[in-house]
Amino acid sequence: MNLSASQISLWNTCHRRWAFNYAGENPQREPAALSARAGTRTHELVEKSFLTEEPVDRTKVYALNFPIGEAAHALSERAREQLLGESGLRIEQPATADIEGVTFKLVTDVLTDKTVLDHKTTKSARYMKTAEKLENDPQRLIYTHVYQDRERAIWNSYIWTEGAVRSVELPIVPEYEKVRLHVLQPAYEILEAGKDVDPMSLPPTPESCKLYPPDGCQFYSRCYPSEEKKQMSSLLEKLRAKSGTEVAAVATASEERQTTFQFDETSTKAPPIEAPAYPEPEPTVEYAQPPVRQEAEPTGIVEPVGSLIEWLFVDCIPMDFPVMNLDRIISEANTFVATEQDLPNALLMKFAGGAPMVASVVEKELQRTGGTQYAYLSTKSSEGKEVYVVLSKHAKHIVKGMI
Ligand code: SF4
Repeated sequence: MNLSASQISLWNTCHRRWAFNYAGENPQREPAALSARAGTRTHELVEKSFLTEEPVDRTKVYALNFPIGEAAHALSERAREQLLGESGLRIEQPATADIEGVTFKLVTDVLTDKTVLDHKTTKSARYMKTAEKLENDPQRLIYTHVYQDRERAIWNSYIWTEGAVRSVELPIVPEYEKVRLHVLQPAYEILEAGKDVDPMSLPPTPESCKLYPPDGCQFYSRCYPSEEKKQMSSLLEKLRAKSGTEVAAVATASEERQTTFQFDETSTKAPPIEAPAYPEPEPTVEYAQPPVRQEAEPTGIVEPVGSLIEWLFVDCIPMDFPVMNLDRIISEANTFVATEQDLPNALLMKFAGGAPMVASVVEKELQRTGGTQYAYLSTKSSEGKEVYVVLSKHAKHIVKGMI
């Protein structure tokens, strides 16, 4: 099994979360937060600018709050200043490091004969990689092993809220003991756990559950399931045993169950997740004219035709595997449409045009990201109903609860 610095960091944060992402029968990478996606786009612009030697288009914006053109321009200009006069420039350089029999894969943003340079973006300076945080950071330590012939490593972080780049520069010197402690030891633990490990067999790390804004760790409901969701899981097991593409289920559910995670008595140690603060949506999403308004189908059998979503859970949530919560995407889409229409809420659009537009944005977003295996949707809201009408055409299996 090849490992990466980010896998080591994830393992160090929570073993179970690593396993949800990389191991087990159904590993499911967490959908990237909007800010992370903006960071990826910024990265691509910086890379393109270096490869083509053309300036960055500074007007480019990703989502309402992410001026990726400005960020990429600032990062590429800062890097050019820092690397002035250096030779052997390489961009997005892949490398393999073999450290005591463990293979690590890495891709270095910018490499010269003297310097290793990494671009980052972060919402706030408190999340950036400081010299102190980098002390035991797996990425830095792998650099010290792979690039022993270079002199220095630089981390440039663009801070969205400041509109500016902060830099940290550290010399590259051998730090074998730290590599052993902070890279090799967790790597051996991961290899021992193995890629087939059941995430739930690994210990949880409750203090890490709230580390991931805006919603906390997305696997929370799997680590601390409620009794209701346990019952739903057993129902799901029966459904999964059933073959074919047409699946319908009726689950008894109170209204409260649809959106509220209820933690059972035995799970009282689980730390509470704070109410999510949704980020702004992205204006780069294009949407078609509002589709013709239809009523959502009543609970029952559905004949799906598409496969953007393998299993769509409507008004019921399974607990035994990670599920993409579409409510969050719907909320982002609502804000996006509302902003486009200069309204406080998309549902204030005339002639009930808001909900269909929101549904269209959600559909486009799923198409852009390649869909998902499991998704949960609540149809309590107008947008939820419209999204259901659209997504039921893209789901292979649909499992419905009753509200
Ligand atoms: S919810 Fe907490 S314990 Fe569970 S995987 Fe996430 S961080 Fe780990």
